[in-house]
Amino acid sequence: MTMHIKPSFYDFTLPQLEEFLTARGEKKFRASQLFKWVYAEQVRTPDNMTNLAKTFRASLPDLFNFELLKVISEKISKDGTRKYLFDVGEGMSVESVLIPGSGGRLTLCVSSEVGCNLACKFCFTGKQKLKKRLSAGEIVSQFYQIGLHLPEDQKITNIVFMGMGEPLDNPQAVFDSIDILTSDHGFSLSRKKITVSTSGIVPMIPLITKSGTRLAVSLNGSNDEVRSSVMPINKKWPINKLLEACSQHAEATKQKVTFEYVLLKGVTDKPEHAAELYNLTKKIPCKINIIPFNEHPDSGYLRPEDPTILKFQNKLINLGAQVLLRKTMGRDIYAACGQLTTLKNENKNKAISLN
Ligand code: SF4
Repeated sequence: MTMHIKPSFYDFTLPQLEEFLTARGEKKFRASQLFKWVYAEQVRTPDNMTNLAKTFRASLPDLFNFELLKVISEKISKDGTRKYLFDVGEGMSVESVLIPGSGGRLTLCVSSEVGCNLACKFCFTGKQKLKKRLSAGEIVSQFYQIGLHLPEDQKITNIVFMGMGEPLDNPQAVFDSIDILTSDHGFSLSRKKITVSTSGIVPMIPLITKSGTRLAVSLNGSNDEVRSSVMPINKKWPINKLLEACSQHAEATKQKVTFEYVLLKGVTDKPEHAAELYNLTKKIPCKINIIPFNEHPDSGYLRPEDPTILKFQNKLINLGAQVLLRKTMGRDIYAACGQLTTLKNENKNKAISLN
């Protein structure tokens, strides 16, 4: 006997759902009705979808699985950052981080993979080989489930694909999830409020351009030698190729590219690196996010001292760059940039104490 596994409702984009339903003899418009109930109204129990024909309603539990990812834990940092651990089955889990900002901004950092094969040296996730590429529904579910955990007067305003995994290593699911999250019949999020971050899979960057979302690039090195030493992907697609793709994105979208630059003590934090970084990026409409390294066990790197960080930032500002020194959020709960992993949660719990 073959077991029938029901597809997750959250894996379907609207056109995919239309196709799925019409193939089963249903009217096409049922798909947008379902999207409205499940996403806009947040009703996941078919019995409560009152404007649907009774027979159609009754058939839904056999057609779809409406379960969201389960939250294993929720940790709240002193600074208000929240970290969620989700069960993605077969003993695996992913993390998502919700970061409060000014003016009511609430940014959700979602994961797209369990582990990551890109093996960036400074990244905790990269220590865990790729175990699973998440489905579109598992990405949508992070947003949906966290939204349900928030007080009524709070809403997620922005999404960044900067959690665990390289989004462009899982493009189908990532861009499908973006289609679902931005659907007018669903959450109606603006594509301008979504940022996809890549470590530099150059041939795939046009997919971000086409999706209408914002591009962020993990640069983390101001020349090929340094960048290749911290990000092995640079050997395949060196800085000049990466920046060419960034220029094309900025030109096509008229949007600034965000360059993320991790400051690693003695490796990427010297004044000459700041000058190189400025020269590399000065022709591209962009902003540079400086991220002082967040230490984690066995990383082999250190965070520079504050005066070095400020010197680096000032050098860039004086040269004329638009720079943001990323305030470290959620460091006490291991939710800060580059600290996400589900490799060994027990190790993280006894790791560095921050105060
Ligand atoms: S920084 Fe991103 S691409 Fe690099 S190892 Fe970590 S998750 Fe993968």
